[in-house]
Amino acid sequence: MQLISGTQVAEKVLAECKSDIAQLASLGLKPGLAVVLIGDDPASRAYVRSKDKKCRDLGLHSVKHELPASTTQQELLALVGQLNLDPTIHGILVQSPPPKHINEAAIVQAIDPAKDVDGFHPINVAKLALEDPTGFVPCTPLGCQRLLLEAGIETSGAHAVVVGRSMIVGKPMALLLMAKGKGGDATVTVTHSRTRDLASITRTADILIAAIGRPDFIRAEHVKEGAVVIDVGINRVDDLIAEKGYRLVGDVAFNEVAPKCAAITPVPGGVGPMTIAMLMANTLKACKQLNASR
Ligand code: NDP
Repeated sequence: MQLISGTQVAEKVLAECKSDIAQLASLGLKPGLAVVLIGDDPASRAYVRSKDKKCRDLGLHSVKHELPASTTQQELLALVGQLNLDPTIHGILVQSPPPKHINEAAIVQAIDPAKDVDGFHPINVAKLALEDPTGFVPCTPLGCQRLLLEAGIETSGAHAVVVGRSMIVGKPMALLLMAKGKGGDATVTVTHSRTRDLASITRTADILIAAIGRPDFIRAEHVKEGAVVIDVGINRVDDLIAEKGYRLVGDVAFNEVAPKCAAITPVPGGVGPMTIAMLMANTLKACKQLNASR
């Protein structure tokens, strides 16, 4: 069984970013990312801090806007408008989920698609469906595809089953896997909470992507012998022995599934580190494309 280390592949992606950043610096360019957080959700705050730190470590220009939960839709739209016009900012990310009074779809649509490094803007969703390489692909599925490529997993002709149909993971993952070319050309089945007899479908998967949000949901009975399993899930479960009182587990019951697999990602240390690495890569892409269009 091959353990696919997201930590190692993410390091490789970040090393590529570093060399790109040096090249851009020689042209007088410094990629910039603005991350906007509304409210004080501890998990979101932790994500935003780690994104900011990763940017700084790499030598990117990083701007963090931490706004109170009382921020209005108009105030947020005004900030997004400013960031769209700011020439030092190439990527804009509004941390999800915002407080309930904020219309998230309207905020996403207000972001300049050329700076939408999360890949959530309708223009970028369309570009992914159209296989237009100038678009931005959501970081998590993009990271999963890179893991498959780096691990030497052949996707062409394989039956890939995606469990989950969210706009952040499941749907773009399916589009990437069915796209023509390297890391694609798979026969894709998308499943979700209404799928009948899920295990009978997942057991036909050569490549199984779990993006459900339920701890240890995928069991040995869901997986065929020799399958490749990518576990996107990040779930907190209570653990009295752990220092923080909880530990992180995936959507896959690793201990019982791993022995059946040709390859599998762990949690933590699998897809998680790839998401942030691909965010950095998307920011560099935005910087290069914006510069080329000026
Ligand atoms: P969502 O809650 O948006 O989507 C979950 C999907 O799973 C839905 O499509 C849902 O179906 C489906 N689902 C739920 N229950 C079942 C079931 N019993 N059988 C089959 N399908 C089911 O979650 P996300 O896509 O945002 O995230 C999924 C997981 O990935 C979470 O654990 C999240 O924390 C993690 N994640 C990890 C990231 C990383 O960096 N590694 C980044 C983003 C997410 P339906 O549509 O019918 O409701």
